[in-house]
Amino acid sequence: MRKVYTAESVVEIAHLRNVLESEGIACEVRNDRLGSVLGEIPFLECWPQLWVRRPGDALRARGLIDAALCPAAGAEAWQCPGCGEHLEAQFAQCWRCAAQQEPAP
Ligand SMILES: [Zn+2]
Repeated sequence: MRKVYTAESVVEIAHLRNVLESEGIACEVRNDRLGSVLGEIPFLECWPQLWVRRPGDALRARGLIDAALCPAAGAEAWQCPGCGEHLEAQFAQCWRCAAQQEPAP
């Protein structure tokens, strides 16, 4: 199990879970009820969390989450500034050397 995302909104987490499951990534939501029990000011640790069952899915899951949250960003494939790897648009980070995608000029 690997945590891939934390959000204040249960709705957002549920949406991302649907996105990942539609891509065949097994995932699980934790803390999905605790926030409402604790009241209006949830602490970060109490926020709903999205976990993937297979650690190997975590990086791909992050890419899908990034794409789902800002579909307009990084619409084109890009080349890693760190190692020159060619990466698909849904990845905001290089899977090879973990460099971040540089902002568009
Ligand atoms: Zn790289």
